[in-house]
Amino acid sequence: MIYLDYPASTPLDPSVLAAMLPYFSEDFANPHASQHEMGWRAEEAVFLAQRQIAATIGASPQEIIFTSGATEANNLAIIGLFSGAGSLAQSHESCEILLSGYEHDSVTEAAFFVAAQRRHLRVRSVFPASTGLGSADGRITPELLQQCLTPETKFVSIMAVQNEFGTVNPIKELGEFLHQRGIIFHVDAAQALARIDLSQCADFVDLLSFSAHKAYGPKGIGALYLNRNSGLNLQPIILGGGQQNQMRAGTIPVPLAVGFGKAATIAQQNFAEEEMRQRKLAHKLWQILSEALPDLAVNGVAMDRLSDASSQRVAGILNLRFKGVAASDLLAHSARRLAMSSGSACHAARQTPSPSLLALGLTPQHALHSLRIGLGRTTSEADMIAAAAHIIASCQEIGA
Ligand code: PMP
Repeated sequence: MIYLDYPASTPLDPSVLAAMLPYFSEDFANPHASQHEMGWRAEEAVFLAQRQIAATIGASPQEIIFTSGATEANNLAIIGLFSGAGSLAQSHESCEILLSGYEHDSVTEAAFFVAAQRRHLRVRSVFPASTGLGSADGRITPELLQQCLTPETKFVSIMAVQNEFGTVNPIKELGEFLHQRGIIFHVDAAQALARIDLSQCADFVDLLSFSAHKAYGPKGIGALYLNRNSGLNLQPIILGGGQQNQMRAGTIPVPLAVGFGKAATIAQQNFAEEEMRQRKLAHKLWQILSEALPDLAVNGVAMDRLSDASSQRVAGILNLRFKGVAASDLLAHSARRLAMSSGSACHAARQTPSPSLLALGLTPQHALHSLRIGLGRTTSEADMIAAAAHIIASCQEIGA
């Protein structure tokens, strides 16, 4: 089996597992137990993890709130701001949440949830392909935002790396643009850690969501960065013992936090070389496939722009469109040999076209003929050659 579904989840790095193990058995104490030394040791491990995660974006450890993953972090950012005594909850003026048309469900669902509670609040999406400004690569630029903002836009959420077609959005430029206009900026960076440089982000965003399992860390943990200079009042969405400065009740799972911290450090150390390596592999795959299947197309940023130094797409998320072959048939044909997907794992059970691909300007038919190939640290050239051969043979069999 060749695993090509890294955007859905990554394997745990062996050194991450090694770092986590002692916290399951020897150092198992509750990190909030402040009356004994074992509790202090667990608390120190959690603090180190916060430092390691904060370092990836240039933030302070106190600005990192642990959650169960990026889904919860996105919910906390949006529901926390717009509910109860949250910063944007009390105003009776009309207020708008602006999203890119291809945000993850955990962003869009949370936005529609808060909008349903408030008469003066609405949600609007930016569809790059239909504005005439954004090209078919799906990037959200300040120029594009400029066209879409209204005086009522108070909050914008844009992902750093698109999870289905890999487009990289210019977070620093977007953040500068929005801050000059006093608009709160949230970034879903679930796919960004271990893929792009986030080191300057903290100053330009108000809120940023992380997921550990997309970056060779454990499943079940993520974090929300809350910029303390933004002065935002966030309401907790999980209530209880008041842990994490009242922001998220519940005992922090120390082994997971330790693993997440270690994964964050590793991600920061070698993403550039790894990105270069994956770029070569993606080109290899593309070269073999496009020679045999001349009608094959790439969704999002074009393949030749992948070698651009100022890359607008990550190498490891490749979305390919096949002529005359439905992605569901190709996936079913390959399911025991190749682990791939037609898009977000959260959508996998639905046989409907991906909303993100439609937002990119694809027709429903083209969207249904597209599949995502995700590369990662353990992907080899031999994997690319074998995967390409299998895909070509499947297309010939299905198309015949
Ligand atoms: N945002 C994006 C862009 C994602 O790709 C995902 C995972 N599919 C999530 C959020 C949710 O992450 P988690 O699994 O950590 O809840």
